[in-house]
Parts: sequence; C-alpha cells; structure tokens
Amino acid sequence: MLLSESLLSQRSIKRDPRGFLREEYNRLVSEELDWRIRTLTTNSGPWSVISDRRVLVLCSNNYLNLTNHPLVKKAAIDAIEKYGAGSGSVRAIAGTMSPHVQLEKALADYKRTEASLAYSTGFAANAGLIPQLAGEGDLIISDELNHGSIIDGVRLSRAERAVYKHSDAEDLGRVLNEAEKKNYKHILIATDGVFSMDGDIAPADRIVKQAEEHGAMTYIDDAHGDGVLGESGRGITSHFHIEGRVDVEMGTFSKAFGVVGGYVAGSRDLINYALNKSRTWLLSASHPASVMASCQASLEVVQKEPEHLRKLWNNTRYFKDGLKKLGFNTGSSETPITPVMVGDSSKARRMSEMLFSENVFALPIVYPMVARDKARIRTIMNAGHCSQDLDYALKAFEKVGKSLGII
Ligand code: PMP
Repeated sequence: MLLSESLLSQRSIKRDPRGFLREEYNRLVSEELDWRIRTLTTNSGPWSVISDRRVLVLCSNNYLNLTNHPLVKKAAIDAIEKYGAGSGSVRAIAGTMSPHVQLEKALADYKRTEASLAYSTGFAANAGLIPQLAGEGDLIISDELNHGSIIDGVRLSRAERAVYKHSDAEDLGRVLNEAEKKNYKHILIATDGVFSMDGDIAPADRIVKQAEEHGAMTYIDDAHGDGVLGESGRGITSHFHIEGRVDVEMGTFSKAFGVVGGYVAGSRDLINYALNKSRTWLLSASHPASVMASCQASLEVVQKEPEHLRKLWNNTRYFKDGLKKLGFNTGSSETPITPVMVGDSSKARRMSEMLFSENVFALPIVYPMVARDKARIRTIMNAGHCSQDLDYALKAFEKVGKSLGII
C-alpha cells in the first residue's frame, strides 16, 4: 500500500469532528443548565427594556448607576472626537495614549498605591498576571470559592496549588504552616475581596496578617468591592484599614464604575513587572481612549458625589431586610449582592421566569457557578432604585416565593 493510501484509510476512522457541540449543548438544555440570553433594547439602568417589557433590573453590576452618569458618558464622547474610535495597537507598541496614562495615575491616587496598570478586562488581569507571579517551585494558595478568572489564572501557572476553606483565615494558617515544610521560593495567596455569588467579604485583615507572618504575597480581586466598600468606595483595603499591606490589588471598571476594563494597583515594582510579563497585556490591543476617559470620569464622580454610594447602601439595607422579613434565606451576604437561596436549579429558573412576568429581572445562578444544590436568585442593588422600586420588587418576590413554596 502506498503511504498516501494508508493515511487515507487511517483517516476514514469514523470520527465526528463537530457532533460533541450539539450533544453537550443538548445535555445542558436537558439539565436546565444552559444560558438563555436576554437582550436589552435600552441602556442598563435601574429599569431597562428587555423582550419588549420594561423591567426592574436586579442583576446588573452597575451598582452606582454610573453607566448613565452624564459626566461618564460625556468623557467618552469627547475622547472619541479627539482620539478616534480605537487605539490601533497593543499598549506596548503604539496603543498607549494620554488617557491610558492619566487613568493609571488617577487610579493609583484613588487606591493610594504607588502605581497602577489598566488591562482590557478584570479577567485578563487575573489570567495574565497570576501565572507570572508564581511558577515552578512556588505555591499558590486560593480560597475554595474564588472567581473563575482567578482559577484560570492559577491553572496557567506552573506553581503548586493549595486551597483553604472559604474565608477561613485559620485554615489558611494551617496551609501556610504545611508549606513551611517545603522550600517554596514564593508563596502567593489569592482571594476575592467580595465573593460574587454570596456577597460575603473575605477576612482580608487576617489574611494579610497571616501572609506577613509567612513572607507570602497577597493578591486580592476587588471586582465587587470597588466603588462599594470603604471610604469613597476605595475598596477592601479601605474597608479593613489595611492600605499598603495588600501586594496586588486587582479590580475592574466593569461593575460599580459602570464602564469596562481591569486593573492592578500596587508598588511601582509590581507595575513594572506586570507590564513586562503579562501576556494578556502585552499581546492584546488596548482599550480605545474613550473607555479610559470614561473610567477616569467615574473615579472623579465616586469621589465628588458621595450620594451614589450612600444610596446604594441604604437600598441594600432596605432590600435585604425586606427579603429577610418575608422569610427568604439570603445566605451570608454582607454587601449589595444578596442571594435568595432556592436550592434546586430548575426551581431557581422557574422563580426567575415568574419574577420576569412580574417585571422584575433577576437571574438564577446555577451549577457550575455554584454547587448543584445551591442554586439561587442573585440580586444586586443599584443606587438608582427608589424606595417604590424596592417595594415593587419585594412584592413580586413575596408573590413568587409563596407560589413556589419557598416562603
Ligand atoms: N473577578 C470577579 C470576582 C468578578 O466577579 C469578575 C466579573 N464577573 C471578574 C473578576 C472579571 O472582571 P471583568 O468583567 O472586568 O472581566
């Protein structure tokens, strides 16, 4: 047989190159674990229009309603006029424009760090930087409930891995003591600041103390603490008064700041290192200047207009108390993220659909984002909601919760 014939006969092995796509999708549908995408036909606000229905939005990360702030919008429009629609390059080549540099200076001032670095997204910051901070011969220690982008960053690293019990600083101490028996060069402790599925806050003060005792580096993902926790929304370090003691403060402009884009803040050494080593920064185009300008305007707004943050927390207290009074289990939430625990994923889905028919948009969070028996409706407050909005939502939750036998 000629070589080419033998290759042909090998290739006639019955291999279906694409069948798995539909099979897997069908499995997700049959287990009610598929995403059904809703499309907004308006801006993202306290109320939006989705599927021709005006709905009260309880599942956006737009905590301070800054997506709609006139100064934040105007900054983008002005920057497009001056700098164009795109940056044309990666940051390291020709994609750094004045607004990128100005934002990084403003962010470092806000975070009270020496320097900061903007990434395209928070996901890109975690996936690009974590694997560079710990490699072969090092150890990364993670909270068991860390966000998927931290998990993926850790997976890209050659370091050994260990996990500590959720928010348990004592268990972290146990892992660190174990680690002392081995000769790791570097140890990196990574945690979410606010956990995105439960709304609880990591004990960052105790984590930092443990890290300092063991000579470990700390990495805190403040995606849901930014603009929400601490003085002027400066985040978790301000909340715990541990400014300057977290080695890597990572965050995003896509949530409370109402725009998009990730960042890390810390020492000048960290930023010099990060920009020379993170492949997601070096090899991926920079944001248009308009995005940077909007982010900078957001930082100014949160510092000059404290009423948004005040309103967010007033709304949070009111809504959380209202849910509890109705008899809902809101888990361990301490922040504007309030889960309404349901358990079963199909029931959580049904609850979300029923709420939607009551003009309340709140999505179910199901496996694999949370454990299979921990499905929930995750609600997130918005500073733009008024008390009538919250009463409206609570009435809908009461009606649906009773009809599903949850309360
Ligand atoms: N970390 C956490 C804790 C998050 O919740 C998110 C967003 N889901 C990210 C990182 C990613 O941020 P971005 O949307 O900017 O990619």
